[in-house]
Amino acid sequence: MMQGFDTDPFAHTREMFHLPQQVIYLDGNSLGPLPRNAPSAISRVARDEWGEMLITGWNKASWMAQPGEVGDRVGRLIGAQPGHVMMGDTLSIKVYQALAAALDLCPDRKVILSDTGNFPTDLYMAEGLLRSMGQGHELRLVAPEDVEGAITDEVAVLMLTEVDYRTARRHDMATLTAKAHANGALTIWDLAHSAGAIPVDLADCGADFAVGCTYKYLNGGPGAPAFIYVAPQHVGATSPALSGWLGHEAPFAFERSYRPGTGIERMRVGTPPVLAMAALEAALDIWDDVDMIQLDRARVRLSDMFIDGLEAACPALTLASPRKAYARGSHVSFQFEQAYAAMQACIAQGVIGDFRAPDNMRFGITPLYLNDGDVEDAVEIIARVVNQRLWDAPEYQIRAKVT
Ligand SMILES: *Cc1c(COP(=O)(O)O)cnc(C)c1O
Repeated sequence: MMQGFDTDPFAHTREMFHLPQQVIYLDGNSLGPLPRNAPSAISRVARDEWGEMLITGWNKASWMAQPGEVGDRVGRLIGAQPGHVMMGDTLSIKVYQALAAALDLCPDRKVILSDTGNFPTDLYMAEGLLRSMGQGHELRLVAPEDVEGAITDEVAVLMLTEVDYRTARRHDMATLTAKAHANGALTIWDLAHSAGAIPVDLADCGADFAVGCTYKYLNGGPGAPAFIYVAPQHVGATSPALSGWLGHEAPFAFERSYRPGTGIERMRVGTPPVLAMAALEAALDIWDDVDMIQLDRARVRLSDMFIDGLEAACPALTLASPRKAYARGSHVSFQFEQAYAAMQACIAQGVIGDFRAPDNMRFGITPLYLNDGDVEDAVEIIARVVNQRLWDAPEYQIRAKVT
């Protein structure tokens, strides 16, 4: 059933974002747009808290409690039990932290299983950790479709990104977690392209660890703090490799040696980013009223409409994402030989997506602030760029640092 503008259940959330004129933003999978309430929230914290309270803000404005409180608000969106999500640092750091903790719980096994589609930083961080551990661990990579068959009793940790950043291919978290557990392995799920994109139920799936960022679908702003989840049965036994003072049981006792803090508190490292957290809290004010099941329905409808429209209008593009909506995350990728130049031309025409090497044009479909009209207009513009070779201009070939 097509839904018109008037019945769009997300018409009110769209109003909560600043979206530049003449732009259709299909890159919320990389950096979410600005929530309208964020600038005033940031300046209020700067002026009234930092400005007036100075150092006393840590207590008076509860800056110190924020990473755990915000963690619970993110936790609701990913099916985490309250008190089991902590904010801080960047996702790369959280991957390192989760993997170190998981390996510490499986000292007799040496294999970390992941897939070749995983985001490079997750694999780089694993390589760096394994090198510094120096205990002969192996990072074993298989094709995404071969993961299930590669889960054996050699595996210590299954470390996967649920939704592939290139293709949007989605792993079956419940099935793979169950198979890992049946083989005595632990799981780490990277939710970078899941949190705020699709319904996630960490508790129900029995995930052991999860990590993710908040600047993509959650709209927390560039460089917004990352999150880490540790399942209730593990958190007390988790021994943090990044044993920073704020994860200490008593940071202000300034003891000579580290003692892990209670529960998820131990996954803190250092001083939290208070101003960045203010922006994220403003974004979460929007999310607090969002039903992820309803959002998912809108995602399926809009992304199917996008795929059908673009395939019909633009035969030169090849769908790189799974055709079935349940097998995808919330972005859609198409392969095209001149993908980079074509995306530059789309951006010049007001449709912002991004390019992922070698030949993917990637489009985030985010019902929180996109509607049917945007999708129809985007299809028309992208088809024009491709069909009329608008990409074939020298200025669109020049590669910028960030693609
Ligand atoms: C976006 C993304 C990252 C980014 O890591 P940062 O430390 O925040 O730069 C890491 N992993 C995955 C899977 C991602 O999609």
